[in-house]
Amino acid sequence: MPGLIDAHVHVMISELNIGKLKQMPATLAALRAGPILSGMLDRGFTTVRDTGGADHGLKEALASGVVRGPRLFIAGRAISQTGGHVDYRERTESGPVGCGCCSGLDLLCAVVDGVPGMLAAVREQLRQGADHIKLTVSGGVASPHDPLESLQFTPQEISAAVQAATDWGAYVCAHAYSSAAISRALDCGVRSIEHGNMIDAKTAQQAAEQGAFVVPTLVTYDCLDRFGAELGMSEASRAKNTKVLQAGVASLEICKAAGVRLGFGTDLLGPLHEHQSREFLIRSEVLTPAELLRSATLTNASLLQRDGQLGIVAEGAVADLIVVDGDPLSDLALLQDGGAHIPLVMQAGSIVKNALL
Ligand SMILES: [Zn+2]
Repeated sequence: MPGLIDAHVHVMISELNIGKLKQMPATLAALRAGPILSGMLDRGFTTVRDTGGADHGLKEALASGVVRGPRLFIAGRAISQTGGHVDYRERTESGPVGCGCCSGLDLLCAVVDGVPGMLAAVREQLRQGADHIKLTVSGGVASPHDPLESLQFTPQEISAAVQAATDWGAYVCAHAYSSAAISRALDCGVRSIEHGNMIDAKTAQQAAEQGAFVVPTLVTYDCLDRFGAELGMSEASRAKNTKVLQAGVASLEICKAAGVRLGFGTDLLGPLHEHQSREFLIRSEVLTPAELLRSATLTNASLLQRDGQLGIVAEGAVADLIVVDGDPLSDLALLQDGGAHIPLVMQAGSIVKNALL
């Protein structure tokens, strides 16, 4: 079958408590992405879309074989408003976010306000090689201080980002939980809604009518619920996690009923990356194996603007292929266990994993 695509990852976030990246040199943050990327490839993911943190250097390292891992599509820095989801300053800090150049956190986020600030930040990511632009337009789980239901960025700011990205031939994806935040993003022309846990039927209808994508990332809430406490996740984050976890599976039903194009994403952080393929099992409560595999191949390829090239076995397509020891259409457990049932992975015609010998 075609290689799998994960449309929501953060390969540079090797810490669960993202604030810790402030103390991590960017060089170390990049090297720690190595085993994360390699694990993804072993699990059958031949392409991933990074939604904040990975830069052109890492993309180039993968493309040239310096680092082993999936083909990478990058956002550069995720863009947040002051006090928004990826503004990782403590309340006691008043200076800029990070030093601007040399920590793992500096690679992860850009904090801007106003239309000129937004235009400059979007164009800066594009200049540095971003394939897509990531905005955070609602509160988040991993961020301790912003209310989950908060609306982040004004319609003018979001529209400015969409204009600058579209003019470049790129698009905007937006982190959003509540229907109000999702609907505002869709009104402004955002093409891909990330997470979308608290989406209602009306907003799902809007997404379907606009041909927008929704990329749920249910495994991350499941894992934070199971392992968050022991891994030192803050009380505030855990309370917010409970809320989005409960809404998560229902969001799949709502999106499926409305005919929304559902992408496949995971959004795992730090030591939790090994649970990536569990997303298939969680979604199988609502979706059939065929729907799930389509989501992680064909639909994600469309999201990446690579129809006919990725996520498909066809003449002229990129030869990203995996061998599964059985029929995943009848048994999704074959995609579990860290790629143990995927003995062979081919990427662009080269064999990059081979346990058949
Ligand atoms: Zn994310």
